[in-house]
Amino acid sequence: MRKPLVAGNWKMHGSRDFVAAHLKALEGLLSGLAIDVAVFPPAVYLDLAARHLEGLAVALGAQDLSVEEGSGAFTGDISGAMLGDVGCSLVLVGHSERRSLYGESDSTVARKFVAACAAGLMPVLCVGETLEQREAGETQQVVVGQLEAVAAVAGRDRLAASIIAYEPVWAIGTGRTATPDQAQEVHQGIRRWLGAGGAETRILYGGSVKAANARELFSRPDIDGGLIGGAALVPEEFSAICRQADQR
Ligand code: PEP
Repeated sequence: MRKPLVAGNWKMHGSRDFVAAHLKALEGLLSGLAIDVAVFPPAVYLDLAARHLEGLAVALGAQDLSVEEGSGAFTGDISGAMLGDVGCSLVLVGHSERRSLYGESDSTVARKFVAACAAGLMPVLCVGETLEQREAGETQQVVVGQLEAVAAVAGRDRLAASIIAYEPVWAIGTGRTATPDQAQEVHQGIRRWLGAGGAETRILYGGSVKAANARELFSRPDIDGGLIGGAALVPEEFSAICRQADQR
């Protein structure tokens, strides 16, 4: 049985005060839930967040990592080992903003996936199509292509042992959500593609999830929780989404 996971991607938002206040608020709001919850603050606040999360059943994740596995002359990069050192257990890989704004190719995403695994982190691999690709009927092909690029390097079993987030690019930060049926169709396709190992893979949906639409999305059989952006910045909204996943 797959345990639901709700993960909050804070993107480039927050401050020291925000970290303290937000995590304090979540402590009260999340008590008694039987799902997994994770937060992904900006890298500079991970260490601080780890200290505020002590004793709390909320996992810590990073939004990105270096393709490089060791240490060295890679100015600005943060390795998977460093993320683990400050308390991260998860890391986003291939978020569409990294792909589109910073030109991360499928092969870079695959290297980051491998680097995350090598550091003992659980990768949350983000995949999804643009609006143009959806309208051209290419959704499944695009998503499978992104999965295949990682599987070619890491292996399909390693992919099945990770977490996958289906995030249609046209739904991220736009207020436009995939319908539960649209999301379910892609999630089911991903699970089929994963084969036998995919039965236990957690596949999250991301793209303008809020408390008002979470219940219906999470009620679909192949949607195992959500990767939440904007709504993850408001503790009451984020915890309300977590509760919808808990009641699934
Ligand atoms: C995201 O950043 O992964 C995301 C899903 O953002 P939003 O919920 O704001 O669409």
